[in-house]
Amino acid sequence: MRKKIVAGNWKMNKTFDEGVQLVKEIIELYTLEVKNQVYVVLAPPFIHLYKLQPLIFGMPMLEMAGQNCSNMPNGAYTGEISASMLKSVGCDYVIIGHSERRLYFNETNDWLAKKIDIALANLMQPIYCVGETLEERNNGKLYQIIEAQLSEALFHLPEEQLRHVVIAYEPVWAIGTGLTATSAQAQEMHAFIRKIIADKYGNDLAENISILYGGSVKPDNARELFEQPDIDGGLIGGAALQARGFVDIVKAMK
Ligand code: PEP
Repeated sequence: MRKKIVAGNWKMNKTFDEGVQLVKEIIELYTLEVKNQVYVVLAPPFIHLYKLQPLIFGMPMLEMAGQNCSNMPNGAYTGEISASMLKSVGCDYVIIGHSERRLYFNETNDWLAKKIDIALANLMQPIYCVGETLEERNNGKLYQIIEAQLSEALFHLPEEQLRHVVIAYEPVWAIGTGLTATSAQAQEMHAFIRKIIADKYGNDLAENISILYGGSVKPDNARELFEQPDIDGGLIGGAALQARGFVDIVKAMK
C-alpha cells in the first residue's frame, strides 16, 4: 500500500537550539491534530540528528531522515557522512539526489545509484528526487530527463528493493522560488513516473510506490496538490521551517 508521507527538508537552516524548539513545536501540534494518520519525516542537518531522535522516539509515524549520504561505506572521505552512521542515530530515510546536490555538487545519476544501493543496504528508505529545469521543460525535454533520472539511478534494483524507495518529483524551477507546478502539471508528471515504473516492473509495484511532490508547497496550495490521485505526499523545504505551517501541510494530506 502507498504510504502517505510529508517530509520536511530543513537544508542548511536552524542552529541546534532552534532545531530542538522546532521539533518540540511540531510534536505538540502533530500530537493534537494529526497523530498517526500521515507519516511525517524530518530531515534536519546531520549534526542535529542524534539529539533530536530521542524527542520523537516512540511516536510511530514520526521519523528522521538524513539530507544526503556518502556513496562509500566508510573510509578516508573527509567531511562525508555514511549511510551506516545515519542508521546508527535512528534515521529510517535519506534524501538522495536533491536538485541542490545535483546542481552545486555535480551529483550524477550514476553516482546517485551508488547512494541508493548503500542506503538500502543499511535498511533506510531513500527519498530519491527527480525534476527538470525550466529550460528542459520549455524545450520539451522534461519527460526524457525524468526517465533518465529514474532509469539510471533506480532501474538496476530488483523489484523487492525498489519497493522501499520513495520518489519525490521536484521541478527545479519550483524549488524555493514561490512558483509551484499546477496540480494538473504535477499530476501529469506523477502519472508519467508511475507509468515508467509500471512498464519496467509491472502495475503492482507502480501502484504501491509513494511519489511525493516538492516545490514551493505551502499550507494554501497543499490540499489541491495532495488531492491528485498520483500524489502521495510532499517534500517540503521553506515551509518546513515553521511548525504551524508545516503541520498545516501535513493536515492537508490526511
Ligand atoms: C525542497 O528543497 O525539496 C523544496 C521543495 O523546497 P521548497 O519547498 O522551499 O520549494
